[in-house]
Amino acid sequence: MLFKNITVIHADGTRLDNMTVGVGDGRFTYIGRDVPEGEWREIIDGSQKLIMPGFVNAHTHVPMTLMRGYGDDMPLERWLFDRIFPFEDKLDGNAVYWGSLLGIAEMLACGTTSFSDMYYFCESIIKAVTQSGIKANIGRGISCFDHTKSFRDLPAYNELTHLIGSFQGAADGRVLVDVAPHSEYTTRPDILSDIAEFAAEHKARIQVHLSETQKEQLESTGRHGKTPASVMLDSGILELPVTAAHCVWITDLDMELLAEKKVTVAHCPQSNLKLGSGIARIAKMRQSGIRVALGTDSAASNNNLDMFQEVKTAALLAKGVSHDPCEMPAGEALYMATRAGALSQGRHDCGDIIQGNRADFVILNTRRPGIAPCHNPLSNLIYAAGAGDVEMTVVDGRILYRNGAFTTLDIERIIYEVDRCVKALV
Ligand SMILES: [Zn+2]
Repeated sequence: MLFKNITVIHADGTRLDNMTVGVGDGRFTYIGRDVPEGEWREIIDGSQKLIMPGFVNAHTHVPMTLMRGYGDDMPLERWLFDRIFPFEDKLDGNAVYWGSLLGIAEMLACGTTSFSDMYYFCESIIKAVTQSGIKANIGRGISCFDHTKSFRDLPAYNELTHLIGSFQGAADGRVLVDVAPHSEYTTRPDILSDIAEFAAEHKARIQVHLSETQKEQLESTGRHGKTPASVMLDSGILELPVTAAHCVWITDLDMELLAEKKVTVAHCPQSNLKLGSGIARIAKMRQSGIRVALGTDSAASNNNLDMFQEVKTAALLAKGVSHDPCEMPAGEALYMATRAGALSQGRHDCGDIIQGNRADFVILNTRRPGIAPCHNPLSNLIYAAGAGDVEMTVVDGRILYRNGAFTTLDIERIIYEVDRCVKALV
């Protein structure tokens, strides 16, 4: 594939006009002003279009599209215990598979090329990822409420051993398996230590929820005399590459700790707002040297997986809480939503339009009503664009979504099957 006369927006917001971008064997093979030699299967006129890195959704639970709109405007505890947990008790691999495909379809249509997930029935999610062509770090969630059990007694231990053995790096590296202790409040410190040892032994990355609510922060201090971040430190979890979702209530000391241990924070502003959890202090985090990525969290608490909405919310919140319109400029917001997420997944050759990188990208049409005229393509991308402006979503050089149609997914069938699963579950 060769794009001519296209505007390139890099992950940091840098813009280059009238560029030629060549894609072959899953990677960017050429980015420059000339037209390179070679046979091209398709040459696309890129005038009036932008090419940008695909969004990386750094924190979600993709099968929870099944629970979209199933419980809203409720206190967090009631939402979890009256709605989400009873629903999840009845889930099976089939429902998780169809729910995952629905979420993946939604993400592709919104320009997301990779996501980090934490859930269970992971083999069904991996099947959906593999079939769709998207890429994902699949974290097997681990929690334990039984005081007599150790990590090795849990179903998660056997499942993780199997997943890592069978799927680590599967689908040409598109699938990575992460280890995902759910949170401080659902896992004992001794189990966290065993998890840290297990992840180190298997060279796996960690996904965890951290300090999402004030209650969690206070209860951890009551239980252990320390914050969730300190619990993670003392159990050895922070010695591994960690993506910590939320971090709304972390203290200044926690921030120093996370910066020192090179933890990535997955900022999920819409979910935090909708659940009334608060607003993460990402300006201060970034000043402390913490890498901040962006996630939607699940469709049960967001209620969509749209990174255009998420990145705009993140940028506006940063300006609003600091009373400073210069805070979180568009380029920094884009970096958070793309390259920072790819790095948090351990995918160093993803998340930016650079020669040699994996060709994960989105083409936006700038001649749509919501984003014309184009004084500043980057501003339009962050503050004006939406899923409707996505013309093409490409992962590893393969077109997965083009002009409203999916190339690998039968969306009618997916919605039909999701409806069937949901009817059986509710
Ligand atoms: Zn979450």
